[in-house]
This record gives sequence, structure tokens and C-alpha cells, in this order.
Amino acid sequence: MTPGCGPVYPGGVFYDSRNKAVIATLLPQVQTKAAAWLADCERNGIWVLLTEGYRSWAQQAWDYASGRFRPGPRLTNAMPGFSFHQYRVAIDFVPADGKGGLHYEDVDAVHASGRSREGARVRVGRGVAEG
Ligand SMILES: [Zn+2]
Repeated sequence: MTPGCGPVYPGGVFYDSRNKAVIATLLPQVQTKAAAWLADCERNGIWVLLTEGYRSWAQQAWDYASGRFRPGPRLTNAMPGFSFHQYRVAIDFVPADGKGGLHYEDVDAVHASGRSREGARVRVGRGVAEG
């Protein structure tokens, strides 16, 4: 997933299907909370593209190795077995501007999403939400 790779505006096929696909990887009770949080963000004009939900042990190991055991940026601080993603209770997201752009740098939008009504029940960090 890279910025500018497709239509990411709300209502866009990519945006909607991507968000649905990520939510579908979560535990059922977390799916409900994540979907409610996403809808609440959108009602408040905060657009977020979900980038990752469930992560396998192999994926977590691959991500953890980046910047440590193989070249690349550090992608995670969690060793395999210690990521909420592996337990289907975490999603990552990036603020979207509603016009097709993604803004990884927009920390304010992340914080705003955490202040949404559902955000009170979904703990939101820097581009990370846990149900
Ligand atoms: Zn994450």
C-alpha cells in the first residue's frame, strides 16, 4: 500500500473494499467496534484508510526483521507473538483527505479520530487502533 496507488476517496471502490477487507480479518466483536468507529469517523468528516488488520506469525517475523536482520526501515517494535495484530484486535490506518490523497504525516487527524465517539471505546494511537 503506497500513497497515490488508487482511488482512496470515501465511496471509492478501493477505499470501501479495502476497509471492509481489513475489518473482516478481526475478531467478530472487534469487527463490530471497528466498523462503528470507522462510521463515526466518517460522520465527523475524518477519512481513514485501514492498512492492516490480522497479521500472521510469519508476517510479524518478517516485519520485525526489517531494519534488524534485513535491510529496511524498522516496521514494528513487537517481536512475533507480542503484536495485537496477531490476535486480531488491532488495525493500522492512515488519514485520507477525501480527495484521493493519503497523509501518513497527519498526526492531528489521527488524534481527531481518537476523539470520535467510538474512538472512546477503540483505543487509538499513532495510526493504530485497538478494539
Ligand atoms: Zn499496528
